[in-house]
Amino acid sequence: AEEALVNSEKLSVAGQMAAGIAHEIRNPLASLKGFSQLLKKKFDKHHDYFDIMLAELDRINEIVQEFMALAKPQANQLFGHYDLIRILQAVMTLLETQAIMKNVELCIKLNDTADTSIYCDENQIKQVFINLLKNAIEAMPGGGCIEIELRALREGEVTVLIKDQGIGIPIELIDKLGGPFYTTKSSGTGLGLMICNRIVQAHHGEMSFASESGLGTTVTVVLPLAGSRAAEKAKVTAGSAQA
Ligand code: ADP
Ligand code: MG
Repeated sequence: AEEALVNSEKLSVAGQMAAGIAHEIRNPLASLKGFSQLLKKKFDKHHDYFDIMLAELDRINEIVQEFMALAKPQANQLFGHYDLIRILQAVMTLLETQAIMKNVELCIKLNDTADTSIYCDENQIKQVFINLLKNAIEAMPGGGCIEIELRALREGEVTVLIKDQGIGIPIELIDKLGGPFYTTKSSGTGLGLMICNRIVQAHHGEMSFASESGLGTTVTVVLPLAGSRAAEKAKVTAGSAQA
């Protein structure tokens, strides 16, 4: 447990630093983008060059934003009581357009879960499901269906399963998931799952992957219900981080 603590502290220092640097990069980046847009109008003959520059600037911006999110679980924890179903529905609405464009259908399955009240930082938990659903959508180039299933598998916890029908993850690569910069995508950052891990850990939850190449992937996220022991622990940590 001590080693885990040391590791999480290391991560938090690295995360804070990354976020600090990311923050400093943002302003000059915005200025570069503004002037590129201006020059694009001025040199219309070369507008395609400027389109590439603008797209690359957007990409830097995306990476910078993900870095800034890394430090957030420590920096601005706003814990409260939220209904997980509502959080998931908000995330689905957010990603709807992106899903439709990729021919992907998102559906939610509620099953036997009576209690879905969790104690969390709402934006952070949203971020977890945004990252996971984005990955699921990106894993299905031919479209398909993503099922978000809520289950009451264990006392005091709520389980969310995110099942896609995508390309899957080879078993020997599952251990690498969530490592910084681990990506198999040409334009990926490899930070999404690392952020998910950090946030889920800060909420005293668990995340795991099951996958079959070519058939799809199921990500399981377990979160403590509000009022459970683990949620109380998260409350204590969140309280001391705020002080
Ligand atoms: P990124 O999406 O930028 O590559 P992530 O940390 O979100 O970074 O994901 C890391 C890698 O994990 C991805 O590049 C991909 O290889 C793999 N992965 C994650 N989720 C899925 C999924 N649902 N299906 C297939 N592969 C996945
Ligand atoms: Mg991702």
